[in-house]
Amino acid sequence: MPLNIIKAMKKAQTQLDEAGIESGQLEAGMLMAHLMGCERTYLYLDRERVLSPQQIQDYFNMVKMRVQRTPIHYIIGYREFMGLKFYVNENVLIPRPDTEVLVEYVINYCKNVGDHFFKILDMGTGSGAIAVSLAKYIENCKVTAIDIDDQALLVAKKNGTAHGVGDRIEFIQGDLFYPLKDKEDNLKFHIMVSNPPYIPTADIEELEVQVKDYEPLKALDGGREGLDYYRRLAKEAPKFLYDDGLWAVEVGYNQAHQVGDILRDQGCYHNIEFIKDLSGYNRVVVARMKGVEKC
Ligand code: GLN
Repeated sequence: MPLNIIKAMKKAQTQLDEAGIESGQLEAGMLMAHLMGCERTYLYLDRERVLSPQQIQDYFNMVKMRVQRTPIHYIIGYREFMGLKFYVNENVLIPRPDTEVLVEYVINYCKNVGDHFFKILDMGTGSGAIAVSLAKYIENCKVTAIDIDDQALLVAKKNGTAHGVGDRIEFIQGDLFYPLKDKEDNLKFHIMVSNPPYIPTADIEELEVQVKDYEPLKALDGGREGLDYYRRLAKEAPKFLYDDGLWAVEVGYNQAHQVGDILRDQGCYHNIEFIKDLSGYNRVVVARMKGVEKC
């Protein structure tokens, strides 16, 4: 039976609704827009257009993947973040709106400091969403983006190039600060940012299927209490931050106070502050380096 765009979308919506996917109508449209290679709004101008058998097959294959809980952004291959389109695949965590709170904080921080060149370090860059957005919106900066996973770095590089900032980002494979140890003496940054893995290991099982079965576990699992990476970032950053440098991380919705305590206990930081997300959770923890000789 010939199916036109609108009928195919209605059918897909029913399948997605029945499978318990929350935004069936929206996602049926996103998948159709992906199939047709156009923006979602254009679909309605062409709503009566009849799909070829191949198009119908491709479309309902994607719907089936979604019914089986493959994240929609892995199917369509991108996610918007900070108004930019980021290519994603199963090697990287899909950028979340929560992380925009961190990026916006750093952009404003740089604006307030004013005329200055910033060297920024992004720890665990994944898709490069943070690193690329910072390079895009802060003209006078250079970013070093580190990730342990070379497949993730391929994604990050692709995003850097796509947004025209690849030449201002250095991508390095390695385990947090470890690869920096081989670089020049006295390598320092003005800002360190990170959205590290922060889910407590035992809570991974409770996450939605589309997260726990599809997104990279090593980008989610933050150890027994979810705090392993904050401890390492707090301990190892001082050597690589200028005096008064900014330390800024995303945290889980209930972790800000614990991360604040880790920073206080470490002794090298002051001006520890929490920044709220749109739901009112303390989503970002920021602090300033006291200066190595003072800690
Ligand atoms: N915000 C992500 C989630 O809730 C977790 C990201 C992370 O561990 N950094 O799935």
